[in-house]
Amino acid sequence: MSEHELPWDKLAEECGIFGIVGHEEAARLAYLGLYALQHRGQESAGIACSDGRKLYLHQGMGYVADVFDEDSLNTLTGSSAIGHVRYSTAGESQLTNAQPILIDCWRGQIALAHNGNLVNAAQLRRELERDGAIFHTTSDSEVVLHLVSRSKRRTLLEALIEALRLVQGAYSLLVQTPEYLLVARDPHGFRPLCIGRVDGRYVFASETCALDLIDAEYVRDVAPGEVIWVQDDTLEFCFPLPKEKPAFCIFEHIYFSRPDSLVFGRTVNTSRRLLGKLLAREHPAVADVVVPVPDSGVTAGIGFSEESGLPLEFGLIRNHYVGRTFIEPKQSIRNFGVKVKLNPIREILVGKRVVLVDDSIVRGTTSRKIVQIIRQAGAREIHVRITSPPIVGPCHYGIDTPTKRELIGANKSAEEIREFIGADSLGYLSLESLRQAVEDGDRFCTACFTDRYPTEVGAVQRQKELFGRSLVGISGVEPVAAVETSR
Ligand code: SF4
Repeated sequence: MSEHELPWDKLAEECGIFGIVGHEEAARLAYLGLYALQHRGQESAGIACSDGRKLYLHQGMGYVADVFDEDSLNTLTGSSAIGHVRYSTAGESQLTNAQPILIDCWRGQIALAHNGNLVNAAQLRRELERDGAIFHTTSDSEVVLHLVSRSKRRTLLEALIEALRLVQGAYSLLVQTPEYLLVARDPHGFRPLCIGRVDGRYVFASETCALDLIDAEYVRDVAPGEVIWVQDDTLEFCFPLPKEKPAFCIFEHIYFSRPDSLVFGRTVNTSRRLLGKLLAREHPAVADVVVPVPDSGVTAGIGFSEESGLPLEFGLIRNHYVGRTFIEPKQSIRNFGVKVKLNPIREILVGKRVVLVDDSIVRGTTSRKIVQIIRQAGAREIHVRITSPPIVGPCHYGIDTPTKRELIGANKSAEEIREFIGADSLGYLSLESLRQAVEDGDRFCTACFTDRYPTEVGAVQRQKELFGRSLVGISGVEPVAAVETSR
């Protein structure tokens, strides 16, 4: 028998972050917050907690429920905490890359939790290493800590702002010190981050589903380009970064976020249902039944069913208790990777003309296997309907995507893809309808569907210019803008 990585041809979620300030049950609420955000990363989980003098850290590989127990939570004493669940989009899957990353530098202890991906991290890292920096992880997030530590700015807030002016790409950040919490979101606002209140204390989370679990009330989103300072029940904010056009990740509404979350000011459920309705209008099918691919296709499947008048049936059942790897018997089983996760219900499918609703096609290999198992279960016709346009380019902002060469949408026409996956018909939602479904589509990044990226990717000229001199003591960075207060 051998152990295999289970092939699952989806874009992979990025990371989830959670923070709470000045609450007597900080670590336990952070643990629950991470529990609610588990869908955003299953490789590792960690919490850093402050008792006002010192930071304590516990982290491990695997699910939140496996990493933490009563004993480990008891070691996380203090009233402020940040937590992180990780999927490795940059850096290998290993414990040293788990977050929060905790360092001890001349500024004292600093813990960092990052969701997103820095597009110029490699260049920055090379420059820092040439300047003598020793990195402990292969994660892009550590670059921010090195920049902060090397900054000559007086306060950590100023140093963080200076660092953020050098990095490019996607970041929703929580930075915990023994005394206070700093929060930042990149000027494009790629990844979500919201603010809540529980028992009069501030909470921060990637998605509002984490607020719901701990009975916190949603206050607002952290705005793109906003930097926040929080201590006890005091929150101050400023906008010290250059303003950019918003580029919220549209995939959060198509697939990544939970449908019960409010993301970028709109419930994911509303967007996803509308995706299904618009898809039914654009690509109707003469069929008997709508079958969603669970879980992400379910809400859109309901929308498709409502619009088309076709009944919705759960003809595929998902096994939720599957890890990333699996031991396969020596004698290989056809479509094993997909079968472990999805099983068809024959009596729903046999003799039927099926509309199969899914959120995306990445390489096409999983879609092909799903079509095969539905056909084997007796379906007469299979009409695949996708709630997004073809993916034609990789994501550089924190989503794990294969290379352009591997993306079927970048290399084949819709008809060729239909043939490859073995469907009777195939319909992709148009970009126009996708933008309509999320409301005010101009606010969103759609780069993986258009190949037009909102930032420079790879080589970043501005950083090259700056690296004409040493990173230490870079001039031309203004001091922190006047701090407005929310009080
Ligand atoms: S490229 Fe695609 S996945 Fe990446 S941030 Fe933009 S919309 Fe999201």
